[in-house]
Amino acid sequence: MTAAATVIGMVPWSGLLDQARLIAASGGPAVPADATRLADLAITGPDEILAVSRAVTRSGGGVLMSSGGTTGRPKLTFVAYHQGLDRLLRQWRPLGAGDFLLNLFTPGRLWASHYYMQALAQRSGSDVAPFGPIAPDEVGEWLPTLRRLRVNAVAGTPTALADFARGVLDAGGGSPIEKIIWMAEPWTEEKATVVREAFGPVRLWGNYGSVETYVIATGTPECGTSVLHLMPDQVLEPDDDGALLSRVGDGWTVPTVRYRLGDRVAAQRCACGRPDGLRVLGRADDAIKLHGALVGIGMVLEVVRGEPGVRDAQLVLTRAPGERHSVSRVTVHFTGDATADAVRQRLLRQFFDLGVVAGHQPGAVAVERVARLHRVDRTNKIPPMIWLEPAA
Ligand SMILES: [Zn+2]
Repeated sequence: MTAAATVIGMVPWSGLLDQARLIAASGGPAVPADATRLADLAITGPDEILAVSRAVTRSGGGVLMSSGGTTGRPKLTFVAYHQGLDRLLRQWRPLGAGDFLLNLFTPGRLWASHYYMQALAQRSGSDVAPFGPIAPDEVGEWLPTLRRLRVNAVAGTPTALADFARGVLDAGGGSPIEKIIWMAEPWTEEKATVVREAFGPVRLWGNYGSVETYVIATGTPECGTSVLHLMPDQVLEPDDDGALLSRVGDGWTVPTVRYRLGDRVAAQRCACGRPDGLRVLGRADDAIKLHGALVGIGMVLEVVRGEPGVRDAQLVLTRAPGERHSVSRVTVHFTGDATADAVRQRLLRQFFDLGVVAGHQPGAVAVERVARLHRVDRTNKIPPMIWLEPAA
């Protein structure tokens, strides 16, 4: 735990104690008899989520979902069939009767987003097309159908939305999309730009959460793409090792007390005026060690994407034997028409330590222009980094 950052949200202590006892009764950590504040309660993880979510869905059954799997073992959870929608729809209603949603989230493989969007459309009285990801070169043949049926909303990751937008532009533009629901990945400047070009003054509705917890925070078209608002009855403790989520009351897919999320978050004011704004700063496992130099993956990507001509970027990391986040080689992959040399020079200029490492170990920092960045098969997301195991 680092210096106490501003806790986001507020909940009554008695409610937290109730949830902590409920979790303890399902096999979670015992509640200390003298606990008087949040910090007295144990931090929980994926084991508690699985045990508690299984216990609370025994009366009506549930859907087995999973997150993770890109790094580390999958985090399993039983999601109640209601998917927390009553609670969500009290403050976030992107769809209504008369809307027609194109659902671009990948179905199957225990990923929740596709099924969440189907249920949201159903509960909103909207029409929905369970499409899955669409490649830019497929969009042209579908566009007349989407226009004829008046599909006016689309849901997906920023990667999937940018693919769809690119296809619309390549087909000559003119889409009827008025609303976008996004989640599961941050925006990059390139993705936001192509979406704006294709859809003009489209209204963006954002979600932040995880498969294990479902929705934690929501954003409306007034919030932009970087601020989201914590839903009521929750409290989020920012922490460098991953923010801790606690919630009270019922109607959630799973109760949580101090559940460790994979992201670092910070309180953030929002222009919309709603309370409990937050910003996702990046993954908690963002830091790597390259021959002794500590490197932030998010910061490296930001610098690379700042080079004129770079569209998007990703790091390919070769694991060093020993420490978990130790790396023997970093290869920057980027798309666009910048030269690898210009990107490399910018990188070594901006990160003094990287320059030193590259001076001693010429192969340790490499930069390559690629036609396409690697995607995760299961979710079609573009991850910030890919891990390579060292050659045996
Ligand atoms: Zn806002």
